[in-house]
Amino acid sequence: MGSVDQGEPNKKKIVVAVAGNPNSGKSTLINALSGSRLNVGNWPGVTVEKKSALLNTSEAEILLVDLPGTYSLSPYTQEEIVARDYLVHEKPDVIINVVDATNLERNFYLTIQLLELGIPVVVAMNMYDEAKAKGFRIDKKSIEEILGVRVINTVATRKEGLDDLLDTVKSVELNPDKFSPKILSYGADIDAAALKTAEMIEEVNHQNIKDIPIRWIALKAIEGDSKAIEDSGLKIDNSAIEHITSHLHAAHDSDLESVMADARYGLVSGLVREALVRPGVQRVELTEKIDRVVLNKYLGIPIFFAAMWLVFKLTFDISSPFMDWIDGVTAGPFSKWSAAAMQSFGLPDWTVSLFTEGVVAGVGFVLVFVPVIFAMMFFITFLEGSGYMARAAFVMDKAMHTIGLHGKSFIPMLLGFGCNVPAVYATRMLENKRDRILTALLIPLMSCGARLPVYALFTAVFFSAYAGVVIWSLYVMGILLAVLMGLVFKKTLFRGEAPMFIMELPPYRMPSFRNLTVHTWEKGKHFLVKAGTYILAMSVLVWFLLNLPWGVEHKKDSFLGRAGQVAAPALEPLGFGKWEAASSLITGVIAKEIIVGTMGEIYTTDERANDAVKSENAGSAYNELKDISASFVKAVKESAINVFSTFGISSLALEDDEDAGGLKQLLKKEFTPLSAYSFMVFVLLYMPCMVVAIAMKQEFGTWKWYGLAFAYQTALAWIAAFVVYQGGRLLGFE
Ligand code: GDP
Ligand code: MG
Repeated sequence: MGSVDQGEPNKKKIVVAVAGNPNSGKSTLINALSGSRLNVGNWPGVTVEKKSALLNTSEAEILLVDLPGTYSLSPYTQEEIVARDYLVHEKPDVIINVVDATNLERNFYLTIQLLELGIPVVVAMNMYDEAKAKGFRIDKKSIEEILGVRVINTVATRKEGLDDLLDTVKSVELNPDKFSPKILSYGADIDAAALKTAEMIEEVNHQNIKDIPIRWIALKAIEGDSKAIEDSGLKIDNSAIEHITSHLHAAHDSDLESVMADARYGLVSGLVREALVRPGVQRVELTEKIDRVVLNKYLGIPIFFAAMWLVFKLTFDISSPFMDWIDGVTAGPFSKWSAAAMQSFGLPDWTVSLFTEGVVAGVGFVLVFVPVIFAMMFFITFLEGSGYMARAAFVMDKAMHTIGLHGKSFIPMLLGFGCNVPAVYATRMLENKRDRILTALLIPLMSCGARLPVYALFTAVFFSAYAGVVIWSLYVMGILLAVLMGLVFKKTLFRGEAPMFIMELPPYRMPSFRNLTVHTWEKGKHFLVKAGTYILAMSVLVWFLLNLPWGVEHKKDSFLGRAGQVAAPALEPLGFGKWEAASSLITGVIAKEIIVGTMGEIYTTDERANDAVKSENAGSAYNELKDISASFVKAVKESAINVFSTFGISSLALEDDEDAGGLKQLLKKEFTPLSAYSFMVFVLLYMPCMVVAIAMKQEFGTWKWYGLAFAYQTALAWIAAFVVYQGGRLLGFE
């Protein structure tokens, strides 16, 4: 196998596109081939990720391009368009088609369409280990014969078959004619129509045709895929096509797109019948058994909410000891040391204050939430990788239909739990604009990771024993209100029904450790990057807003404090009509992570906080370092104990130690449990952040929809917090 090196000019270059269904193991295969020296970027003009790797072997340089995972080459999703544009216009030398051997029916549907392009195909029969474990016997020879491709069995996770795969790619590239894909028959009438259409296209376009896969274009023309025709730049005589296909219409009594889909499925099922022998006794597959319960009409939704609850509980149990630890380190020793260091360099007092109170307090309070974000992303990744997320979308499909959307919209919404911004971009997977806008309007009600710090902070102070339940209740409230608002929108701005579609349910699978860590990191790193850039800058800005006009005595009289004072009365009926809370909420418009950072700055720079913090500073730097590592070990232990107690293995509940940071002490004085909950509800619901605004503008070309989201959410937040607070008081809570 080759290594990745600088390109050498005199060597032959082979361009290989790697295509396949989502989850067929493409990324694993490319990582294994390239030793994960990947170039990662975006496909031009879209947010779909582009990965490639250059392998340097003794005979040639091989460029592997990871195409987006797709089930088809239709023009409906961004992924499909990106994949087929690349194949049609860049004309790779060879396609490696990664196929999940445990699910040939679904995977071959794409294979058949790849063959239409006329590019030599090498099938990587991946997950061969699982197919074997299931007792499948796959007749490689007959697949090779029927399709005119080469088939190599691979287990990407164990790097099995990969050398063979590369060798095959090289030999196929040397003899493209010997390995050109077969032209498959879609039935006599379609074949004839395709031939005539191809002739007609050649006639109309003469010379400028030679680089374009003519049969593919002909099939697309029959299907009515006008995007493919447009992109090819070819002239097409539509009335001639209509003439050619009129008898197809008549014969099949259905639109031609479905006719073609049926023809392809027919081919695939024939092929699978030919090439696959399943074990004699058909046992009920594990996946099927699990699905009978998980997708049950009555149990499905309760199981979904229970799974969510478990995720939040585990997230919080695992991360909270580490959060305390980071809190202790940044608020205590770290800010003390940096202040001392800056003073010893003779820097003016205000810069020391800017650094310790602005940067360290602002960014530090946000960094505290790194463990909770990563823990949450880890569990979401696990649910995705295991196959459960797709079931969640399936289970929610019915519910989604009642609000005028289908289950597919639920996927961008689920992404919204991580961050609303990619979720808004992910609405591109939906076919029509109405669905996209409606989904995007509801996405901000999904509680994103940025809101978690606020919940984590407040639940730690007020609801430590029930933190998981309280946070879960907020997430559920967001979902329920999304349903409600969906209903409202469906009755008003967005009348109409969402179309039906078929949802793919991948088999359950234990996600590999590598997959989990990589994707968790991918999801969580944005938070770190934001903390290091955007939030850093905003913390500095907030510091200035809290310290201007210059020489202001009390934070209350600063610009931000005054704005907070103006807004506070409006929040009075919600239980937190204080300028501190109002000022924090104002900065949250920029990004919700900043709320906690601002609170950190406001409260800890105040005299009240100084009293609370002062008492705990003593000891040499050496002892402090020892304490830091000792408390880390303690955090690991606590985290483990928490997890076990979740499963009832141990009932060792940990008391929240009273010497936590100064901010927590202060919050106890400023809020009651009821007003804290009301505050969290408000943070959950009020206006989406600026970054979401930009995403919505980019996607829909107007500020209008963000304006609507801004207005309805802020109203909703106020009403919901009002109901919670006033209702709670009526019920006698405090
Ligand atoms: P992609 O969506 O096609 O890029 O798929 P990934 O590379 O992300 O793989 C999806 C999942 O399948 C991961 O959990 C992999 O670890 C797992 N996987 C990939 N190849 C194999 C294989 O050959 N055998 C088994 N058992 N699992 C595999
Ligand atoms: Mg992938």
